[in-house]
Amino acid sequence: MVRVSDDSDTEGVDAEAAGTDAAIGTTTTTGTEAATSGTAASATRPTSDDSPREAAVGTVGLTRKFGEITAVDDVSLTVPRGELRAVIGPNGAGKTTLFNTVTGALSPTAGSVWLAGEEITDVPQARRPHLGLARSFQGNELFTDRTVLENVRIVVQTTQQGPFRLDLFRDAGPVGRERATELIERVGLAAELDSVARNLSHGDQRRLGIAMALATDPDVLLLDEPTSGMSPGATARTADLIEDIQETLGLTVLLIEHDVEVVLSISDRITVLDRGAVVATGPPEVVRDDPAVQDAYLGGMRENE
Ligand code: ATP
Repeated sequence: MVRVSDDSDTEGVDAEAAGTDAAIGTTTTTGTEAATSGTAASATRPTSDDSPREAAVGTVGLTRKFGEITAVDDVSLTVPRGELRAVIGPNGAGKTTLFNTVTGALSPTAGSVWLAGEEITDVPQARRPHLGLARSFQGNELFTDRTVLENVRIVVQTTQQGPFRLDLFRDAGPVGRERATELIERVGLAAELDSVARNLSHGDQRRLGIAMALATDPDVLLLDEPTSGMSPGATARTADLIEDIQETLGLTVLLIEHDVEVVLSISDRITVLDRGAVVATGPPEVVRDDPAVQDAYLGGMRENE
C-alpha cells in the first residue's frame, strides 16, 4: 500500500492506518478512540486526520461487494470538520460506490459509516439529511417543470416543516422564499430565479442541485462530479463556488471529481482509490508529486506542466 504523507501529516495518516487495522481486527496501534478509551461499541470510532478533533464524516473498514466484485475494499476515511476532501481514481475505482454507501443509498457489506462522531451505518438514507449529511441533487431529482425558486423552496420547506407534500407547491406564501432566494443567489443563479428548471443549462442545473443540497442545512456536503460535462468556464465557476461555500458556510465537503486541475486547486486533501482500496491520502502537492500516484492515476500530469 502506498501512503502519501509529508512530515506534518504523518500523524494523521497513521491515524487512518490505525483505524483500518482496528476495523479488520488486526493489530491496533495508536490513535483510535476505541483503542484508547473503548467507547465505541460496534465499530472503531474514526479519529480525524488532525487528531484530537473528531471527523465530520468517516468510514471504518468500509467494504461493498457486488457478487464477486469488491467495489469498495476496506476503506477507512476520516475527514475533519471544514475540510474539502477530494476522492479520485480511475474509472471503476469505487468512488461512486463509496459515496453511495456514505449517503445510505447502498448498504455496506462490511464496515461502518460515521457522522459527527456517531455511527450511522444503519440509519436509513432518508434520515441522513436530517443529521446534517447532504449530497447534491442530481438532474433526475429536480422538479424540471418548476422554477428554480420553487425547486429550492420546496427543499427549504421540507427541511423546516417535515415531509414533502404536493400542496407545498400551491401557494406557500413567503415560507422559505427568503432562504431559498439567498441560496439561489449564493450559487450564482439570481438571474434565473423564475426560470423553469428544464430550461437551465447543464451547468446551471448542477448549481441548482447544489443549492437544493444546501437547503437541507448540511454540515457535510457530498458532491459527485459537480463539473462533469461543463465547459472550462463553467468548470472554473463551479470550482470557485465549491470553495466559496466550503469556506463561508464552514462545510465539510467530500468531492468526487475527474478534473485534475479542479481537484488540485480546491482540495485540502486528496484520497486516491484504486480497485476499491485507498492507495494514497495527502495534500494535493504531495499526492500530485508522488510518482506512484502520478503514474497510476494522473496520467503524466508532470509532462503537461
Ligand atoms: P467511474 O469513475 O467510472 O464512475 P467509480 O470509481 O465511480 O467509476 P464505481 O462506479 O463505484 O466506480 O464502480 C466500482 C466497481 O463496482 C466497478 O467494477 C463497477 O463495475 C462495479 N459496480 C458498481 N455498481 C455496481 C452494481 N450495481 N452492480 C454490479 N457491479 C457494480
